[in-house]
Amino acid sequence: MNIESSSPLKLFNTLAIDAVAEYFAQPVTMGEVAECLQFAREKMLSVKVLGGGSNVVMADHISGLVLKYRARECEVLHQTESEVTVKVGAGYDWHQFVLECLSRGWFGLENLAYIPGTVGAAPVQNIGAYGVEVKKSIKSVNGIFLSDGRNFCMPAQQCGFGYRESCFKGELEGKVLITSVEFTLSKIADVQIGYAPLDRLAKERGVPTPAQVAEWVIEVRKSKLPSPAELPNAGSFFKNPVVTSEEYLNLLAEYPEMPSYEQSDGFKIPAGWLIDKLGLKGVSFGVVKVHEFQALVLVNDGGSAEEVLKAAQSIRSAVVKGFGIELEQEPRLFN
Ligand code: FAD
Ligand code: NAP
Repeated sequence: MNIESSSPLKLFNTLAIDAVAEYFAQPVTMGEVAECLQFAREKMLSVKVLGGGSNVVMADHISGLVLKYRARECEVLHQTESEVTVKVGAGYDWHQFVLECLSRGWFGLENLAYIPGTVGAAPVQNIGAYGVEVKKSIKSVNGIFLSDGRNFCMPAQQCGFGYRESCFKGELEGKVLITSVEFTLSKIADVQIGYAPLDRLAKERGVPTPAQVAEWVIEVRKSKLPSPAELPNAGSFFKNPVVTSEEYLNLLAEYPEMPSYEQSDGFKIPAGWLIDKLGLKGVSFGVVKVHEFQALVLVNDGGSAEEVLKAAQSIRSAVVKGFGIELEQEPRLFN
């Protein structure tokens, strides 16, 4: 097992932060993972788990051992005429997995096409897009505890899934390596096209098949979101805040044009709209710029973690000052 020291991770994070890990390894088998954990124990190193690096802000120097687990098996565990349960290695590229499902006639993930990252990270923030969250297709999450290598198999109901949340971002953060995810997918098409861009296309082009939903999602995303390969970014930098009914009515009185979506616990306001309304779209904070078309995306032109976080803090302060709303950062600090 090759464990590199002082390993550059610029190519392993989509913000392209010029980070260096004290140690870095890319195990493929559980035997190799065990070897890495033994190495970390002997050297008394902390262990950090990385996927595709598309939802992290990397510190310039990352202490300890960074593990990027690469297993990418896809095994059918069980199937009936109407559904299939598959177990997928954490290292499988998420978008490739979505395409693989569609090619095999397994449905449910099509709205989540073109999200960067790995299968193993999908449950971590319960990835979501265009009205679908991955939790609805997850049966269980398998992994090991980093402290002692013990296995776990956690049914979806115990994963604490919420809006861009799970226990893997909560009490288990930094404590586990997710090794595979089991999904139950439908063989019967049931397309979700409620979000405006998909609804609009359906009106123009007719009701889509699941594969067409994925094509439309890819088309819309390509037109709105900068590719990290060209403009380094971590997708939405902030979560959409949910405000109480009272706060919502106060804001609406001042901004009648404000978009909002009613939730069980209040009203969701698009964070991108708040940032845009403050005139910050396209504005640069040093080498970090608010994207010109998508105010939720911060583009990093060679900045360090400190510079990215400083820019984010300036935006958060402006939103508190302008609207009295605290934005929550989505990508995790990886240090
Ligand atoms: P990383 O960024 O490597 O890691 C994220 C977190 O998960 C870290 O805390 C890491 O320690 C942990 N982690 C990763 N793998 C494992 C594992 N095997 N075991 C345990 N912990 C692990 N997100 C959405 O929800 N919806 C979107 O529509 C969306 N669009 C995006 C568009 C762009 C252009 C970009 C850059 C990002 C977008 N994201 C979106 C965010 C991101 O792609 C997802 O959160 C994705 O799931 C992160 O996967 P990753 O493998 O890159 O994880
Ligand atoms: P958008 O269509 O410009 O809409 C802005 C926000 O309004 C979205 O974040 C979405 O919330 C919310 N919204 C829109 N229609 C809604 C509806 N019918 N019901 C409830 N909420 C609605 O969004 P966008 O930025 O282009 O992104 C499109 C989708 O991709 C969104 O679901 C978004 O979450 C996802 N995305 C996520 C990331 C990330 O890094 N997390 C990056 C890019 C895109 P929700 O976010 O709750 O869906």
